[in-house]
Amino acid sequence: MIPAAIEAGFGELGKHGSVINPEFGSAFRLGAVLTDAPFEPTPKRTFGVDEFCLHCRICEEACPPEAIAPEKKMVRGVVKWSVNFDRCIPFFAETSGCAICIAVCPWSRPGVGLNLAAKLARRSERKGGTE
Ligand code: SF4
Ligand code: SF4
Repeated sequence: MIPAAIEAGFGELGKHGSVINPEFGSAFRLGAVLTDAPFEPTPKRTFGVDEFCLHCRICEEACPPEAIAPEKKMVRGVVKWSVNFDRCIPFFAETSGCAICIAVCPWSRPGVGLNLAAKLARRSERKGGTE
């Protein structure tokens, strides 16, 4: 459901391979409902996550089996953050659920994400003003 959540503007893909939402970080479970109700589509959104992940290595360094790639990779024709699931899943099974990458991500800290997104938006505006 990650691609659908991103397309619907719920969040952006983080380096740890999970969706990051500005309010909840990655500390949530995605759910989906099939419906033919006439909802207006919500637009895709960005709020600085991708740029932030370029300069952050917290999850990458915290992942015990080193499953999180330091740079984006080509995955099925799209360049994006990716996790090596051949490394992640065995460790995840061995520890009965790991999720260290989600726990250590700054966006997952309660009360942090919205302020961080606002700060990144201000920084981006300032950069735009000087170009
Ligand atoms: S769940 Fe654990 S093993 Fe998998 S990518 Fe995250 S930190 Fe690494
Ligand atoms: S810990 Fe850092 S690099 Fe990893 S997903 Fe979170 S913000 Fe991105």
